[in-house]
Amino acid sequence: MIRIRGVRKSFESQLVLDGVDLDIPERSVVSIIGPSGSGKSTLLRTIDFLETANAGTIDFGEGPVSLTSTKPKDIASVRAKIGFVFQNYNLFLNRTVLDNVAIGLIHAKGKGRKEAVRIAYDELDRVGMAGFADRYPSKLSGGQQQRVAIARAIAMDPELLVLDEPTSALDPEMVDGVLAVIKSLADSGTTMLMVTHEMRFARNASDQVVFFEGGNIVEQGKPEHVFSHPNEPRTARFLSSIH
Ligand code: ADP
Ligand code: MG
Repeated sequence: MIRIRGVRKSFESQLVLDGVDLDIPERSVVSIIGPSGSGKSTLLRTIDFLETANAGTIDFGEGPVSLTSTKPKDIASVRAKIGFVFQNYNLFLNRTVLDNVAIGLIHAKGKGRKEAVRIAYDELDRVGMAGFADRYPSKLSGGQQQRVAIARAIAMDPELLVLDEPTSALDPEMVDGVLAVIKSLADSGTTMLMVTHEMRFARNASDQVVFFEGGNIVEQGKPEHVFSHPNEPRTARFLSSIH
């Protein structure tokens, strides 16, 4: 179980995360849904130290690490356990697809070039992109770039894969291919924390759905519960607003 506790974050005087507690059981998929501006991305970013929280901890089972820490050792220990997939892929544009996946294995994991390349091909194969290993990202569609970004994240063998609206920058015809990759990772036991606006996907692929609003969790449960029988009027209102 990955335990996130008491995460608070303000930007200037604006409180964006109001003491968030969240558990992510091993091998499970937790999806966060909720309105724009509610703090979903900020939550994901604070747990990977892309933003420094004002309070809070994350515990991968070895004891809590403070999300306010600025110690390189704390930051590196958490980042080594998290693979992060961004809405806009964030691939290295001056590197080939293969190098995008291999580079972290060489620099962060200390693998030799040969082993890194072998692992990179395997991971690209898992996302259906091995045939594009020698291309540059600019020659790929958004959906293909996102599949490479997913391969790059999972190649590092993270304990938690974090995805922030991985399909929301894609042309509609690219969405299903990326969702299929994410679903296959979920089915193979990858532990995931995902923000998504793909409600049908959240319902089909998640073990737990979290409805987030105003900087905190309003309601959380199995997909059937949150989507079909929400306890909170705010959840029901959000769901009816998007259908
Ligand atoms: P969501 O992902 O749910 O749409 P965000 O976490 O991106 O929400 O943003 C939550 C709030 O925090 C918004 O009001 C946003 O404008 C603000 N915010 C996010 N990042 C920053 C930042 N780096 N500086 C200032 N305000 C920010
Ligand atoms: Mg966001």
